[in-house]
Amino acid sequence: MQAESSRPEIRLKGIAAAPGVGRGPVFLLQKGMPVISCVKVQDPETEIRRFEEAIVATRHEITNLRNKVVDELGESEAAIFDAHLLVLEDVALIDEVMKEVRSTGFNIEFCFQEVAQRYIDIFENMEDDFLRERASDIRDVTSRVMNQLVGTSPQRLGTPLHKQVVVAKDLTPSETVTLPTDGVVAFVTEEGGRTGHSAIMARSLEIPAVVGVRGLLDVVNEDDVILVDGELGLVVINPTAQTIESYQAKELTLQNRRDRVMKEIGMPDRTLDGVSFSLQANIGGPEDMEDIGRYYAHGVGLYRTENLFLRLDAWPTEEEQYQEYAAVVKQSNGKVITFRTLDLGGDKRLGDLTDEANPFMGYRAIRLCLDRPDIFRTQLRAILRAALLGPVAIMFPMISSLEELRKAKEFLRGVATELASEGITPKEVIRLGAMIEIPAAVAVAEELAQEVDFFSVGTNDLVQYLLAVDRGNQRVATLYEPAHPGFIRTMDKIFTSAKKNKVTSAVCGELAGDSLWAPLLIGMGVNELSMTPSAIPDVRFILRHSSQSELKSLAENVLKMTETAQIKNLMNEFSQSKLKLR
Ligand code: PEP
Ligand code: MG
Repeated sequence: MQAESSRPEIRLKGIAAAPGVGRGPVFLLQKGMPVISCVKVQDPETEIRRFEEAIVATRHEITNLRNKVVDELGESEAAIFDAHLLVLEDVALIDEVMKEVRSTGFNIEFCFQEVAQRYIDIFENMEDDFLRERASDIRDVTSRVMNQLVGTSPQRLGTPLHKQVVVAKDLTPSETVTLPTDGVVAFVTEEGGRTGHSAIMARSLEIPAVVGVRGLLDVVNEDDVILVDGELGLVVINPTAQTIESYQAKELTLQNRRDRVMKEIGMPDRTLDGVSFSLQANIGGPEDMEDIGRYYAHGVGLYRTENLFLRLDAWPTEEEQYQEYAAVVKQSNGKVITFRTLDLGGDKRLGDLTDEANPFMGYRAIRLCLDRPDIFRTQLRAILRAALLGPVAIMFPMISSLEELRKAKEFLRGVATELASEGITPKEVIRLGAMIEIPAAVAVAEELAQEVDFFSVGTNDLVQYLLAVDRGNQRVATLYEPAHPGFIRTMDKIFTSAKKNKVTSAVCGELAGDSLWAPLLIGMGVNELSMTPSAIPDVRFILRHSSQSELKSLAENVLKMTETAQIKNLMNEFSQSKLKLR
């Protein structure tokens, strides 16, 4: 429990991105500054040697910079670097760091950051302007030394400490996947939208998150305490004792609600009138597979395979991919794992992908794969090899036309033939699917349906492309509105085409796990909903306490409506009436 702060409480509204309430000291994620984890090391003397080398390298770096500035601007402009060099010669600071490493046995990055921060705090609190300036010198030099250390570090760095709330301008998906989250109690970002990939990852990590908080970085300080309400999309900086107390009550209510829902978790997935529905999990790698059993998911409806690429920040080899995929399939207990082929691009950028003015409209997903047969072939080989270990489905993201889908299928057939010639043939027939997330694909859904076993609707993208609203742009977040009648009718067209052609309809975008939307989707004829595993209990509860005829009439009524607000009201009423049963 955090103590009440003496600073005034500030409340800011953002977009609720991942449910739950989290509270803790601020961890300000500054771009370019490595995030440091705390680990026990085997040999403190090796750490100290690394520290000495980093200091020497930093001294070179600053001296070179100083010489350059002297040449280009003159001696007086370079004076700042003299102050920086003095920090590197501060015996007291350096000795204290070494003592810390030897006495704690922790890694040098962590000890150095701790000691440097103590120095920064002391100088920042001094009366004298000149001495206060020293704080920024130390901060600057610390970041240079830290960059040197990170370059020589054998481990990937990153972990906010002591139950902190990560505060950032924006979190890229690769930052979210590489940031170890043991110490994180919540995420808050100034930018981003509910269906941006960082928000999706926060939900899958079950960490409360609020995104799109305008003006956040103007008011938050590193030594603030922050409370994040991921249900209301509210951020409270330096909450008063009263606020904290009221939130403790709210946390209890949430916990009670959750306990009750979890009690029913293992019951059959049937509506009140006995119609079965299938709830599946969206995963990002083997580490999420535990949730399949925990939440009784029927399988994996979306495996975001690009997460491995983002975690490694590199193109993994066939073997690396195979190991990861095999680990997922081995834990599936015979349930189908739906591999979504690589969906890099958009907001999921890998280092050497070129910059684009419109990344969401650009070199992304199936487009990239068809253009880079080397990458596509490697991935498909790894997936098909993993399919020897259990049932697997494959779906292609961002399909926009019949030709594109046929090309992808043909490519897959080629890879399967190649593997067969090596004696590798999966036992089970692999189910094939197309993601429907581009409006043009909806227009040709009848034709696409004849080529696949299932459709999986990527509502996150379909909404953005249909309404022309960037899913990660906080400025247009209020326009990102799936309850738009145009979107509802578009979905109806997809599900009707699927049904007519006896193709399974699945939804794997965020709407599938939203208790407001899941009843409507099932009412519209969707067979499978795939979601962040932690969303399964609520959705299951609502659907189990509804009859298929009720859901159908909800869908019929919504389809007749012409205004977003009406649609939202009706869905809200329905969902609330069911949740009240708890
Ligand atoms: C979607 O677009 O709805 C989807 C599931 O894919 P992603 O969020 O990974 O783009
Ligand atoms: Mg998508």
